[in-house]
Amino acid sequence: MRTIYVQLPQGGYPIHIGSGLYSQLPNFIHDLGWDEHRPLMVIADSHVAPLYGEKVVQPLDEAGYQVSLVTFPAGEHSKSSSTLEKLTEECIRAGLDRNGAILALGGGVTGDLAGFLAASYMRGIPFIQLPTTLLAHDSSVGGKVGINHSLGKNMLGAFHQPSLVVFDTDTLITLPRREVVSGFAEVVKHALIYDDSFAKWLLDHHVQLNDLHSEYIAEAIARGCQVKADVVALDEREHGLRAILNYGHTMGHALEAISDYTYAHGEAVSIGMVGASLLGEKLRTARNVHHYTKEILAAFSLPTSFSGPWSNKQLVELMRRDKKALGGSLTFVLPKGIGEVVIQHDVQEEVVSEVLQELRGGV
Ligand code: NAD
Ligand code: ZN
Repeated sequence: MRTIYVQLPQGGYPIHIGSGLYSQLPNFIHDLGWDEHRPLMVIADSHVAPLYGEKVVQPLDEAGYQVSLVTFPAGEHSKSSSTLEKLTEECIRAGLDRNGAILALGGGVTGDLAGFLAASYMRGIPFIQLPTTLLAHDSSVGGKVGINHSLGKNMLGAFHQPSLVVFDTDTLITLPRREVVSGFAEVVKHALIYDDSFAKWLLDHHVQLNDLHSEYIAEAIARGCQVKADVVALDEREHGLRAILNYGHTMGHALEAISDYTYAHGEAVSIGMVGASLLGEKLRTARNVHHYTKEILAAFSLPTSFSGPWSNKQLVELMRRDKKALGGSLTFVLPKGIGEVVIQHDVQEEVVSEVLQELRGGV
């Protein structure tokens, strides 16, 4: 087992990563100082609950905790106020009081939704993240939780840090291949923004990683979480530095939205990172990053170009509306080199259109 600590002024929390960790949950929870009188509510989606619900509930039950499990339909559409309402009702009916805690068992959808429930239920109760997707090594750390609105993604949310993150890597065995590939995009992102030696390591070991070799996967998750933990520790509420975590996301979010989520999040972010590398070379924030960016993403079978009927203008309009854009100006996280990025405001539309053109159907 590897353990990373997220250091925050109000205390911070550990992230445990390894195989067979659910059996140790009672010990981890005990280490938080939570005794058996704290009622626990496990929340999981309809795919994850039958696979891992019992594996989480049983050891806690045996250790004397009062633990219940509730489920909701899998998918991004459940990150909604109507699901939040239903889960709230389940918590009230189960007698979850202010002494209670929530365990979010699943991918980023579950973490964001159950985390937001924890942030708002009775004005906030503690929660634990139990990520089961590779992507969730990113979303489970850092305390951003929330739900979507029909007019925009993540429009209602909060900063609510988990008390503990336990990533049992055994769960990745059942994860559909496309979700695995999509998750690698965020792993690569963490390397490209902050740690060139991690990027080199990923490229050197892509064969073992693609095979989900448990030792290598645990290492990749731990190093990715370390980057996230470091960045969040320096800027918990995104006043500045934390925005570098949006590398590839300005273009990525536009592609996700315009394709009506036909692109998985990581696929869109992958294309967005290739776009950012091209943009960086054109705007001279970096040299010789484009080829490397494509090489490392392709090693994980991630897309590096796109095709679709949408005009550059439509895509640029979406980028202007990105939550991170201020006053409609185009803001991008751009590479300075491998393992280093810079935030660039007021990027000219013409250059972005040139890049989009080059990204179409292969560069
Ligand atoms: P997800 O939670 O929908 O999981 C993807 C699919 O895999 C779902 O169908 C799920 O049921 C299934 N699944 C999950 N674990 C499984 C397992 N071990 N075996 C079999 N099936 C499994 O999506 P995701 O890709 O994990 O997360 C995407 C969400 O994360 C988005 O809503 C995004 O906005 C959010 N996100 C949040 C942050 C943050 O900082 N809060 C960061 C990045 C992404
Ligand atoms: Zn992302």
